[in-house]
Amino acid sequence: MKKFNELDEGFICDNCQKEVKPLGYTSRDHCPYCLFSKHVDINPGDRKNNCKGLLEPTQIEKFKDTFKIIYKCQKCKQEHKNIIARDDDMSKIIAISNINK
Ligand SMILES: [Zn+2]
Ligand SMILES: [Zn+2]
Repeated sequence: MKKFNELDEGFICDNCQKEVKPLGYTSRDHCPYCLFSKHVDINPGDRKNNCKGLLEPTQIEKFKDTFKIIYKCQKCKQEHKNIIARDDDMSKIIAISNINK
């Protein structure tokens, strides 16, 4: 069973205030500029979480042939993971993965 419901929409990033366009191939779940996300999902794409805290990227983890960003919610402190998108700022991803080395 696939739990995704591909909700792809643009938004204004709560962290850097940049306008983020819809991704086009899967649901956009984080900002490609600063990589911050918002705690709105329980399962990816469901938007059923009422926390709505800012998710801060803290680590990068290898996942199959791509990477996952590990987030910590600034509000409820829960951990959350998102797969990187192909237009994410690679230098930001590298910077985050280097913090924990
Ligand atoms: Zn941003
Ligand atoms: Zn939260």
